[in-house]
Amino acid sequence: MVLGTGKRSSQDLLKKRVLEAGLCTGCGACVGLCPYQVIYSDRTVQLHRCDLKDGKCQAFCPRAEIDFGSLRSRIFDAADLTPEIGAVQGYYFSRAADPQLRAIAQHGGTVTVLMDLALAEGLIDSAIVSSGRRNLEQNSAIIKDKDELRKKAGSKFLVSPTVAAFNQTAAESTGNIGVVVTPCQALALAKMKIKPRKDDADSIDRLKIVIGLYCGWTLSAEKFKALLWQNNIDPAEITSMDIPGGQKVLAIKTAGGEKMISFDYVDPCIREACRYCIDSTAEFADISVGAARFGAAGEEMRGWNQIIVRTSRGRQLVDLAVSRGVLEIREAPAEALQELKKAAAAKKKTALKNIIRKSGSARNLLYLRSSDPFVKKFLAKN
Ligand SMILES: Cc1cc2nc3c(=O)[nH]c(=O)nc-3n(C[C@H](O)[C@H](O)[C@H](O)COP(=O)(O)OP(=O)(O)OC[C@H]3O[C@@H](n4cnc5c(N)ncnc54)[C@H](O)[C@@H]3O)c2cc1C
Ligand code: SF4
Ligand code: SF4
Repeated sequence: MVLGTGKRSSQDLLKKRVLEAGLCTGCGACVGLCPYQVIYSDRTVQLHRCDLKDGKCQAFCPRAEIDFGSLRSRIFDAADLTPEIGAVQGYYFSRAADPQLRAIAQHGGTVTVLMDLALAEGLIDSAIVSSGRRNLEQNSAIIKDKDELRKKAGSKFLVSPTVAAFNQTAAESTGNIGVVVTPCQALALAKMKIKPRKDDADSIDRLKIVIGLYCGWTLSAEKFKALLWQNNIDPAEITSMDIPGGQKVLAIKTAGGEKMISFDYVDPCIREACRYCIDSTAEFADISVGAARFGAAGEEMRGWNQIIVRTSRGRQLVDLAVSRGVLEIREAPAEALQELKKAAAAKKKTALKNIIRKSGSARNLLYLRSSDPFVKKFLAKN
């Protein structure tokens, strides 16, 4: 599926093949480049019609056609590439050295400590992270100050329009930028890096660090809020959410205590687009960060992250954090990496099955190419 060709405008094709097809991840890449695309709640909306055949709205959409193989080979060292989790230069367990930061972070505070350091060392002038609004929906925050960054720690399982905030920041300022993103957002930014449009080339050059979060799914704001009300939880009262290792529940904390909601009820709230997503580890980030849960050591590793270092920029930032004493790292056992690869492969296979069910044919993989060797590998095993 190539958007922006033929008689129809890019905007029409984006509407038909991404928005109406349930493939929109809410990444925000089409917002801020074109005045007609906006985010409303957690949905992307087209305000006015546009007739351009090569509009910016579709240029970096992670659900417009992607040649994963070529994107990977242009960004990463071929020797580092793995089929399941993309490029791996290093794989570790890590956590912030500061226990106060760990106490407010989602897991080990690795993401916040790395962004903190990038700001403090002047590697970036702004960090774009996620920031909750009172009604649970997420907005992006553009942070220049270390203490402000700590206030944004923690995971929010609703989409944050981070790439839209990147587009805005890059247009309005001249400084260097770092972002914390989900895998689909890292993919949109990778598309910008590889094929910037003439007037956006400077913007993407100023993107100096991409920290990707592992991601299983995000929730639809509308459906999830309805579920919360059914469980007598006021969305505005939520202080944090997590998925405790080995349990099929979503743990929701409010000032009044913690409630567990079974995945059976959470599952119908997952955004449809996430069911067609093949990336669980942010394969296009410089560094990817998730929870360090694996096998029997799940409890022991509570409060730690697992990280994949993918690029030399990522390597430099992690090494600097260790040498400054702000990040602790441990070698991760080989079983943890195997477990991660197995889980990542399972997500790819499930997504491909869902894609084929949707399109009706293994020859039509919606935004993926069936000739892509990385896709082929998981198709064959379906
Ligand atoms: C939607 C979602 C699904 C996830 N699924 C998994 C999973 O299946 N397995 C797993 O191991 N880990 C998953 N994670 C990642 C995990 O929850 C932690 O974010 C990660 O381990 C980093 O922990 P930390 O303590 O270093 O983060 P912290 O130091 O607490 O920093 C977290 C950073 O992430 C930013 N952030 C929060 N929510 C979002 C969002 N929606 N979009 C963009 N940025 C955001 C915050 O603003 C903050 O800067 C998911 C995260 C999200 C947002
Ligand atoms: S996936 Fe991203 S770029 Fe594509 S339509 Fe949705 S918000 Fe826009
Ligand atoms: S599961 Fe995929 S599509 Fe959904 S938010 Fe995560 S990275 Fe994006």
